[in-house]
Amino acid sequence: MDHEDAPSCERHEDKVPMRLRSMHSDSSRPDTVVGLYECPECGYERRRPIEATTAA
Ligand SMILES: [Zn+2]
Repeated sequence: MDHEDAPSCERHEDKVPMRLRSMHSDSSRPDTVVGLYECPECGYERRRPIEATTAA
């Protein structure tokens, strides 16, 4: 399964899925990766933690 878990931009009435631009590791939380999402419509950026799913 692909993780198409992108958040929607809250600046639009329609659901605009944000694109994952980059991922950062949080030094205070080594188990958590924070994804930086950007809206392709308006460029709104939003950070969201990405839970590490069970690796194969
Ligand atoms: Zn937007």
